[in-house]
Amino acid sequence: MYTLYPGRFGDVLDLHVSPKRLLLLIPTTTYRTEDFVEAARRLDVDLAIASDRPNVMSAEFPDHLLTLPFSDPEAAVEEMRRFAARRPLDAVVPVDDLTAVVGAAICRDLGLRSSPVAAVSATRNKLRMREILARAGVPSPAFSSFSVEDDPGIAAGRVSYPCVLKPLVLSASRGVIRADSEADFVIAFRRIAAILASPGVRELGVGADRILVEGFIPGTEVALEGLLIAGALHTLALFDKPDPLDGPFFEETIYVTPSRLSEPAQAAVRDCTAEAAKALGLSEGPVHAELRLNRDERGRDTAIMIEIAARSIGGLCSRTLSFGTGMSLEEIILRHALGLPIASLARDRRAAGVMMIPIPSGGILEEVEGLDEARAVELIEDVTISLPKGQEVVPLPEGSRYLGFIFSRADTPARAEAALREAHSHLRFVIR
Ligand code: ADP
Repeated sequence: MYTLYPGRFGDVLDLHVSPKRLLLLIPTTTYRTEDFVEAARRLDVDLAIASDRPNVMSAEFPDHLLTLPFSDPEAAVEEMRRFAARRPLDAVVPVDDLTAVVGAAICRDLGLRSSPVAAVSATRNKLRMREILARAGVPSPAFSSFSVEDDPGIAAGRVSYPCVLKPLVLSASRGVIRADSEADFVIAFRRIAAILASPGVRELGVGADRILVEGFIPGTEVALEGLLIAGALHTLALFDKPDPLDGPFFEETIYVTPSRLSEPAQAAVRDCTAEAAKALGLSEGPVHAELRLNRDERGRDTAIMIEIAARSIGGLCSRTLSFGTGMSLEEIILRHALGLPIASLARDRRAAGVMMIPIPSGGILEEVEGLDEARAVELIEDVTISLPKGQEVVPLPEGSRYLGFIFSRADTPARAEAALREAHSHLRFVIR
């Protein structure tokens, strides 16, 4: 944004570059606030933040702290149109899943950089995503879907085993359950129906009344962190998930990058992600994809798309990543949205790992012991407990909050992984 203003002597016009104006869409329940705000601070931008609940300071800073109805994109678009008429924006960035669709809708209305709304919406509905990927021939599990009102006993007879049942609209493995038999299926179905009937989930609207059933895909799982620029996928990091994820619940634990997979396997993952993004029509901004690797009859690695989301990696996991000479993932995302130069998309060469600390049992978190010992383990960068003491710990499949995160950095992925496991072995959670 360039503004012309009278120079010091009043007789010349200086060309002054005023800071770009950025709006972050930050839902009340997100782990991503701090890292995005920190990245915005590092850039010379005029930052505004919109949340779904009013901030106590909103009245004092009407141009910088906004309240937007995230669950009603049309109303949010209207409000932002009026706001932008007064204070034009250069970028609108949703920080996670919950604001991805409303963010795309605002960007479309204001002519800002984003993937199309239909593409982003499709990533927020697992059934819609499966339909689009299947039609485009992107390798994915076989699937069918049922209404929560259907008789689970009858539905159980219509699917093949093993299978995975899941809600269409949740994330972080919430409500994702493997079933190996009709009896398992009925129990899982009822459990998911109960999650979908709980307050806060019902309001998610379209798709919150259906259950998706997919064929269980065996094999190792990886996560690809990417950035789409003008439709081209740039892989920022590929994470191995060294712990087996065989169910019946799929609690994420360790992510380690760079991947130790062979180059052909990594290429299969990149190609499958690019195909999926293209099939969905995603074109700009961050993507986070989960894939499984299988071998075909001729022994070649094939990647199968489990899920692709139009957002960056969740929780605090992005803290493992650093690019060029120390740029964070969030800074890259903001620079891309603002059209600012990005010096390098190359990840720091050292290996890095994060453990999403497994939830040992449900109850009230009373104490976390062994933190000092865990933090003192060589190669450990940080141990963060994200659930305050006194709060309820809820394991999967019902739970939706992380207990905490352990971060490591090392010269090899194996060392980064070993450090995480050692640090974790020192922690003890007292849960009543
Ligand atoms: P969410 O968006 O809640 O994370 P996903 O569909 O990505 O839901 O599923 C969460 C995890 O469950 C995946 O990362 C994977 O480990 C496992 N999973 C989901 N679907 C399948 C499947 N069809 N076959 C094997 N594992 C699956």
